[in-house]
This record gives sequence, structure tokens and C-alpha cells, in this order.
Amino acid sequence: MSSVRRFILQHSRILAKQRPFAQGTALSVFVFNFTGKPVARIVMKFGGTSVADIDRIRNVAAHVKREVEAGNEVAVVVSAMAGKTNELVSWTREIAPMHDAREYDVVVSSGEQVTSGLLAMALQTEGVDARSWQGWQIPLKTDNAHGAARIMDIDAELLISRISGGQVAVIAGFQGIGPDNRVATLGRGGSDTSAVAIAAAIKADRCDIYTDVDGVYTTDPRIEPRARRMDRISFEEMLEMASLGAKVLQVRSVEMAMVHGVRTFVRSSFDDPASINSQSGTDELAGTLICDEDEIVEQEVVTGIAYTKDEAQISLRRVPDRPGISAAIFGPLADNHINVDMIVQSVSEDGSKTDMTFTVSEGDVNKAKQVLEEARSGINYEIIQSDTGLAKISVIGIGMRSHAGVASTAFAALAEKNINIRAITTSEIKFSILIDSDYTELAVRTLHSVYGLNQ
Ligand code: ADP
Ligand code: ASP
Ligand code: MG
Repeated sequence: MSSVRRFILQHSRILAKQRPFAQGTALSVFVFNFTGKPVARIVMKFGGTSVADIDRIRNVAAHVKREVEAGNEVAVVVSAMAGKTNELVSWTREIAPMHDAREYDVVVSSGEQVTSGLLAMALQTEGVDARSWQGWQIPLKTDNAHGAARIMDIDAELLISRISGGQVAVIAGFQGIGPDNRVATLGRGGSDTSAVAIAAAIKADRCDIYTDVDGVYTTDPRIEPRARRMDRISFEEMLEMASLGAKVLQVRSVEMAMVHGVRTFVRSSFDDPASINSQSGTDELAGTLICDEDEIVEQEVVTGIAYTKDEAQISLRRVPDRPGISAAIFGPLADNHINVDMIVQSVSEDGSKTDMTFTVSEGDVNKAKQVLEEARSGINYEIIQSDTGLAKISVIGIGMRSHAGVASTAFAALAEKNINIRAITTSEIKFSILIDSDYTELAVRTLHSVYGLNQ
């Protein structure tokens, strides 16, 4: 079992109450529509650019209507209009830099309330029976971690009863209700997780993630125009891609899809709704299916390249080389919720002192330095140094499990372009390198080409 899968299984939560007549169980009941096909239950999620203005919302309504007319049961999850959440976040910072997270959630969840109401209206205008639902009305229950809450439970039976009569449920993504009875948001990009969690809870046949690209590409198509759309990608590879910077899906949504086996299909909302046959399977539609690795026939060694900018590096020089030193450094950082990523410890020259270098996100660098200053007497380092403006480029592929020498190809290619590598980490199905962020685009394109990913 891979480390990723083990991690996910350890952290999985059962969130759905059992659907009473779950397909594939002994209690299965198939309902047929007028075309004689079994009714499919689908979740359709539309991101910010897909609902960016009134025309786009009308276009979304046309996509939803198409699925309803094909006889499907539909739950829709919407994001806020593009840019809206950023604006709301900036207002919370402006009014009080150190604000109450519960009030932050009240403010930033409001964008989704607007789009859910507008889409319900657009559907009603088109003669489609629809009703909007906020997180608290579902209810979609979360834990108490305001601003980055996790979903704990969804009342699936209630939601199924709402959509099985043919009414479209238009659900505000990104939000739920915490144990304190207050609105809680799921972290940036969280509508993806709302959608996949709802699909898992109601045992949907598919979760369609409509966005501004027509699928998952071998790398961000905004950086490399020669990036290729993949027809399929495994849950594990998608999880690595998302964790390592491909923001096309929120990481937690991929974890959720993997744990619950939700067939998740990334596709474009800009495709003409009239040109799409809702009876088609994912193989005939333009998009990327995220599925089990066994369902992928031709497995490449390298599947994709991801990147994150805004990385920072901190070095502690001349640290005593003794047992417990890592705990003394990284314990206080963890206690202060600072995520440490790559760690490099140099071999000490005389066995008594060493250098410890690690990365954190640029936004955390000042806090990390402050924490380390406060912990200085317990660690006993001589100098603390930091560097910002770095980027992490990651190469991902399940085929790396069985192929040697994949990383050395990258090192040679980057050397040829004169790109200096500051740190390297590797794991079973990926490796990452740290470089100066000015070289991000060049490095991504170089690696994309060297692994034969260009179309
Ligand atoms: P939405 O608003 O629909 O949630 P996002 O902006 O969150 O959309 O995600 C879509 C964006 O993800 C794309 O516009 C694209 O630039 C970016 N992206 C990054 N990496 C990838 C990738 N490997 N494949 C596709 N899109 C990617
Ligand atoms: N509107 C929220 C955000 O911008 C959630 C989402 O779009 O997924 O982060
Ligand atoms: Mg998104």
C-alpha cells in the first residue's frame, strides 16, 4: 500500500449516513426515467469563473437544465463569483488584521449565498424546479476549525428526499455549520470539497467539477501552453498534483474522492451546453476522470509537473548535533501551526555542530523566525538566516515506483539551463526541487519537455 493511500485511510472519516437504497447493495432499487435509462444521480460543481456574472450564471443554468432534461437527479454546488471571496477576505483584514475567525466565516461565506440564490432564480426562469440551500440548511456539519473546517457529517437522507422529487438543490459551496451552531468555511477552494463530500454522502454516480479549463493538464496550462489534457488520472497522482500546487482541485476534495471512491470528472463550463449529450459517458466527453489507478490502461512514468511559488528557506547555522535537536527545532514550529516542508541537515564536520535548513511558506517566514528566536536557548544555534522568493517544482508519476533514474534526468536538464537546485526531496511517486522563483516558468517548461509531456 502506498504512503499516500495509507495516510488517507488513517485520516478518513465516514461522513455519509447510509443511503437507504444505495446502488450496488442488496437494497438496490433502480429508478428509470422516460428514456428507459436508470436515473443517474449527479453532483455538478461550478467554480468562481463559471459564475462570474449574470450571463455565466445563465450558462450554468443551461448546463443544469440539460442534465435535468436527461432525467437525472441533480445537486449543484456553487462557488462565489470570481474575485468575490478575495474581496471579502481583504475586507476582514482591513477592518481588523487579528480578527475573530467566527466572524471571518460569516463574511467570507456570503459570496456563495448570493450565487446559490441567483442560480436557483435562473433555473426557475427556465422552468426548472430548483431551490437554494445554505450549509446550515443541508445541514452540512463541520468541526470547529473556523476558516479551515473539516466536514464531519451530511444529512444525506434529507438531501436525497429533496432531489428525488425532481427538484434541483442548488447548494452554497465552501460552507457548513460548526458545533458552535455558527457558519464555518472549509478553506480556500473549499467548494470542490463540498461537492465531493455531498457526492459521497448521497452516493452520486458522478461528481462533475466544472471550471475554466476542460480538465486536468500535465501542468498548469497558463504556464505551459503545450500542456496536454489527461483523459484519466489516478486519485493518488491527483492528490500529489493538488498538494504540490495544481490548484485545479482543493487537496481535501481529492482525499475525499479517494477515500469514498467518488468518480470525479473535471470539465469546462465554457463548453456549449447545447453541444453536450448528457447520456454520454466520461470517455466520450471532454474532461479528465479522476479514478482508481487500475482503471488507467496506459500508465506513463511521469504524469505531471506542479509548482508552488512563495516558498521561503530558513537556515539555522552551527546547531549542536545531538539527539533531540530536530524535536527542539520543529516542535515549537508545529505548536505554532507552521508547516515545515523540505528539511536538509548537513553532515557535521567535527561531529559536534551541524546546519539545519528547511522551507516554510513565505507568509509564515516572519512568524517562524520569531518562534525560533524565542526557542533559541533550547536549540542553541549560532546564526539564523532566511531567504524568500523561492519556488518548488514537483514531478509526479506512479510509474516512478518501478523506474529508476527519473529524478537524475531532471537534474541534468536543469543544469543545462543553469538553474541552481537548493534542495531536493523524493518520495514514492514524486520528487520536488527548490529553486529561485524567477526560474519557475523555465524549469516547468524544461521538465515538461524532457519527460515528453508536450503535445
Ligand atoms: P474554479 O474557480 O473553477 O474553482 P480554479 O481557479 O480554482 O477554478 O482552478 C482552475 C485553474 O487551475 C485553471 O485555470 C488553471 O490555471 C489552474 N491549474 C493549475 N494546474 C493545473 C493543471 N495541472 N491542470 C489544469 N488546471 C490547472
Ligand atoms: N469561494 C471560495 C474561494 O474562493 C471557495 C471556492 O471557490 O471553492 O476560495
Ligand atoms: Mg477552485
